[in-house]
Amino acid sequence: MRQILVISGKGGTGKTIIAASFAALAKNAVAADCDVDAADLYLLLHPEIKERHKFKGLPRAEIDQDRCTGCGRCYDVCRFNAVQKNITAKPQHRKTRPLTSL
Ligand code: SF4
Repeated sequence: MRQILVISGKGGTGKTIIAASFAALAKNAVAADCDVDAADLYLLLHPEIKERHKFKGLPRAEIDQDRCTGCGRCYDVCRFNAVQKNITAKPQHRKTRPLTSL
């Protein structure tokens, strides 16, 4: 069995078209559209749906307030802007600036 993963962090790059093209060319292909926002591979392939299952993602990441020093490094380095400025460390753990001052 061969597995092909088509992935990109940017939308509108043609991932679904490429994946659908590979799936259409393959014989006995199993395709999984794992797009969390718009899983629309089925619009191109019109598959026969044999099973449906509930999807459960991983737990949401959280800052451990008992260990956070408020250094701001996570805010500085997160390329997805997933860390918000309004996160503050407990005063007893604060070694540097609070994130709100960034
Ligand atoms: S502010 Fe610093 S200590 Fe707190 S979660 Fe971010 S990187 Fe870790």
